Amino acid sequence: MLSPPSLMNNDVFFVRCDDYGNALAEAFNRLSGLTGLITPKEVSGKRVLVKPNLLTDRTPEQAVTTHPELLRQLLVKLKACGAEVTVGDSPASTANLKQVWEKTGIASICAAERIPLISLEQCGATPFEIDGFAFTVANPVLNADLVVNLPKVKSHSLTVLTASVKNMYGTIPGYSKTALHRMYPKPRVFGQLIRALWQVLPRTVTIADGVVGMEGQGPANGRPIKLGFLAAAQNPFALDRALCDVLRIDFRRVPYLASSPEGELQETPTVIGDTICAPPFEIPAGAHLLNLLPDWLVRSSERLVWVRPAFSRQACTACGKCSHACPVNALSMDKATGWPVLNHKLCISCSCCHEICPSNAIRMTQSTLLRLLKVFKGVD
Ligand code: SF4
Ligand code: SF4
Repeated sequence: MLSPPSLMNNDVFFVRCDDYGNALAEAFNRLSGLTGLITPKEVSGKRVLVKPNLLTDRTPEQAVTTHPELLRQLLVKLKACGAEVTVGDSPASTANLKQVWEKTGIASICAAERIPLISLEQCGATPFEIDGFAFTVANPVLNADLVVNLPKVKSHSLTVLTASVKNMYGTIPGYSKTALHRMYPKPRVFGQLIRALWQVLPRTVTIADGVVGMEGQGPANGRPIKLGFLAAAQNPFALDRALCDVLRIDFRRVPYLASSPEGELQETPTVIGDTICAPPFEIPAGAHLLNLLPDWLVRSSERLVWVRPAFSRQACTACGKCSHACPVNALSMDKATGWPVLNHKLCISCSCCHEICPSNAIRMTQSTLLRLLKVFKGVD
């Protein structure tokens, strides 16, 4: 299958933006002018689906989800250009959709702008088989003339970085996302799955929320960090590659960038607009380190080489969400204490529990041998 047109252009635009107040409106207008990505010619009368990152039910200040003020700026612009707009996502915590819509501030923005907010779980999906990966994509995404991808810039315990490319994993509806984690637990293969997904998406433009991002134990339990920019591109891979440069991350450690064909590894995005000097950005020391080792060594040394969740009893509220999210039933809730109990033998290091915990009670940890190998290999 041919790559969609959105993957053909490597221009990446950066605009400085210090906060979500007046600075955001000004920065958004500058970005729109620079990129020309959203104009009446492009979107008038077209079905446009906006896909923010609505991972779970956190407030905008927690920097887990796309800031609602960025969404507001975009909706106003799209409406002014005559687009037929819908906002949609399939959050990790699908059981609590109403809570996710409200706590993230997205519901009130959509209501104020009179834009439908839809769950990508409940509108049907189309199955695909691409490059050996079988998955489904929600129909409202496939039926759109244009998707505006609106990610948050964050660290990620499985993929190192989550921004433009990984945000569209949320177009796979419901718990099939979790099942895919079970089928493809290694970050490198998971990265190839995400690249396969992008082959079936319609035309897409990305505007990344890097005003305040998340570092450390992302994508849900890290620290908010002021990065001070908005970024936009047609090609999400070029945008994430440029983000790696800005955040001083070796892009070869991001599975969906590292798994690209050899030629694309050399591909350098053309950066346009402001020069961004982001502060030092901490990435999680997590499952991606398993990629440093050959498969045979990982398989034969399971007791010595691992990445697993560790639980804080002080922070845990015994809500059970981690156990529910685990794709391989490696977690059960202890009847006496109410705390989660891990079956090490079943764990596939997918980070789903870490991603969904609402109380910052889970850290992904690595074995001593893996930490030593990391030092030996010279990985920060
Ligand atoms: S325990 Fe956590 S990291 Fe391990 S398989 Fe389950 S969800 Fe994934
Ligand atoms: S670790 Fe987190 S998700 Fe799991 S039961 Fe405790 S609070 Fe809930």
